[in-house]
Amino acid sequence: MGCCSNHGSSAGPFAEGRELVEFVFQAHGGALRNQMLPGSGLSTACQGCGAGFTLTTFVGKCPACGGLHAVSPPRCDDAANIQFAGQGVQIDEG
Ligand SMILES: [Zn+2]
Repeated sequence: MGCCSNHGSSAGPFAEGRELVEFVFQAHGGALRNQMLPGSGLSTACQGCGAGFTLTTFVGKCPACGGLHAVSPPRCDDAANIQFAGQGVQIDEG
C-alpha cells in the first residue's frame, strides 16, 4: 500500500493488541486515527467488557467502558482484525 510502513520498530499494521492500537493512533502523525472507516464501520463487541458497538474510525473507544480499539487500513474490512489496547489505556500523542 505504501502507507503505514514500518518505521524501524516491531510495530506495524499487522501487529496485535496494544502495539497495533498505538501504531494506528500515531500513524500519519495522528491524522489516521479519526478517519472514518470505509462503509459504515465495523460492528463488533468490546474486547474488554463485551458491549456491542460500531467502530466507525480507525481508532475508537467502547462507549460503555472506554476501552481503546483500533484496526489498521490493510485489515479494516473485517471486524475480526480489530485489536484491543486495554481498558483505561492512555496513549501519548506524538
Ligand atoms: Zn467496553
